[in-house]
Amino acid sequence: MTIKLPVCTCCGKTQYPVREICGECLSDDLKWMDIRAEGELLASVPLYHSLDEFFQDRLPWTIGSVRLEDGTVMMVNLGGEDMESGTEVSLSAEQDHKGRSVYWAHRKEEEND
Ligand SMILES: [Zn+2]
Repeated sequence: MTIKLPVCTCCGKTQYPVREICGECLSDDLKWMDIRAEGELLASVPLYHSLDEFFQDRLPWTIGSVRLEDGTVMMVNLGGEDMESGTEVSLSAEQDHKGRSVYWAHRKEEEND
């Protein structure tokens, strides 16, 4: 499974959060590429309060951080799924209700590996 993120053509660093200048070497030569979206759940936390109406109807809502195989750390949604730190996950991307890219972590299934 892959997701699209900008990658610096000078130093190879994946840019997350998405930005126009490389956070590593300040090059502006970034190219959107398919990134292998598999990694490890670092931490997760349930949210019990939100100012956003979308989430108010769905609380508690679990979010987490994932380190991809290339070292990029991303914020992800776990929704209602309960996962321990260290769980092997794959990510998917979709547009939220405001048209922004959001990422979901899914437990990697052994049989697909
Ligand atoms: Zn760079």
